Amino acid sequence: MFEALNERLTGVFDRITGRGALSEKDVAEAMREVRVALLEADVALPVVKEFIAFATERATGEEVIRSVRPADQVVKIVYDGLIEMLGGEEPVPLNTNATPPAVVLMAGLQGSGKTTTSAKLALRLTKFDRKKVMMASLDTRRPAAMEQLAQLGKQIDVAVLPIVAGESAVQITRRALQSAKLQGFDVLILDTAGRITLDEGLMNEVAEVAEISKPVETLLVADSLTGQDAVRTAAAFHARLPLTGLVLTRADGDGRGGAMLSMRAVTGLPIKYLGAGEKVDALDVFDARRVAGRILGQGDIVALVEKASQDLDQAKAEKMARKLAKGQFDLDDLAGQLQQMKRMGGLQGIMGMLPGVAKMKSQMAESGVDDRMILRQEAIISSMTKAERKKPDLLNASRKKRIAAGAGVDVQDVNRVLKQHRQMADVVKQMARGGPKKMQQMAAM
Ligand code: GDP
Repeated sequence: MFEALNERLTGVFDRITGRGALSEKDVAEAMREVRVALLEADVALPVVKEFIAFATERATGEEVIRSVRPADQVVKIVYDGLIEMLGGEEPVPLNTNATPPAVVLMAGLQGSGKTTTSAKLALRLTKFDRKKVMMASLDTRRPAAMEQLAQLGKQIDVAVLPIVAGESAVQITRRALQSAKLQGFDVLILDTAGRITLDEGLMNEVAEVAEISKPVETLLVADSLTGQDAVRTAAAFHARLPLTGLVLTRADGDGRGGAMLSMRAVTGLPIKYLGAGEKVDALDVFDARRVAGRILGQGDIVALVEKASQDLDQAKAEKMARKLAKGQFDLDDLAGQLQQMKRMGGLQGIMGMLPGVAKMKSQMAESGVDDRMILRQEAIISSMTKAERKKPDLLNASRKKRIAAGAGVDVQDVNRVLKQHRQMADVVKQMARGGPKKMQQMAAM
């Protein structure tokens, strides 16, 4: 899924990573490239424009988080923009709460995957929601389509309304409603007729069926591979039929993602499911977070930035940056860093978000580097007096002994913390000598 789009966006991010700070020009250039990537992915132009405006404002606005690398923040901004485009973080569940049978009407063009999706949905509702489901095909012009649904019903063990030759779509609808009611089915899925192209006859028929069956859900099934055509189809159907949601099929083969990314913004309708293969269980609940994560392929960085921004304390960060700029880094600062690490889920949490660190993690665990170490270091620092934290040189043997006793550790452990602090303080001093640019990088670390 989304290979092409992913490749383009990864290229954009690669070009900006490694830069300490991003100027407005850098951001503008990155956004220009993101724009091209989206257009190449066949996303509708107005949607792209809106997205770029949103992302540029965020990237250059005041919400810049200093504790993360600017490039990572751009990744997060693009991620947020995609989520917005896709309709928000929370999946919109299928509504089946109605006096039984709750009717789910499936509409769409022929070949969009409507019949397959009807069966997939029936299987989901039966298997996960324990609903008693009946399906009925209204495709009176194509006996093969009716037969296909009957076959699928057998395969997944879901009831299908028996075929009666010569009935109209409206007649079948009435019979299906009655039959489902009498037999106590919770949900009735109506698979309406499709045409190769949109036509008046098709629209009238679906509209009439909807009027009779009063569906709680009217889903449009569209083939994501047809890109903007799928979006136009959805809009045309919606103009005639109050749709409640969309199902995009063949997402498994969609390298571009243009239909998916435009659908919500153009039609205002939530995407509820994605068809992800030919098999009857290949239907995923649409989750914008998952999709955006796959498009970017940078889910780990997004999680990292999210965590950092949750705990963001701008004033503290600025104060820290000013101190660092003067080459100062005392034990209180070290304690602050430890706190920050803990808030980000500790070492394990931070490392878990970085790709390819499983091996390193186990090595660290073997050598005793773990979250207990952070806690131990914190205990040691908090056993010091204020003066000691500001001026570690005060720490002679007897003071160290007192601190070790206070923290419940050995003097050796105290020495280790002091050594670590010295090393960090040295780096800070060196950085301060390196000038403001270096400092910015450091503060962003
Ligand atoms: P209908 O004419 O709209 O009812 O379309 P069908 O349900 O008959 O589907 C047409 C073809 O698309 C069939 O061969 C399905 O197996 C295939 N199909 C449907 N949904 C998906 C999907 O999500 N992924 C893939 N790869 N194929 C699908």
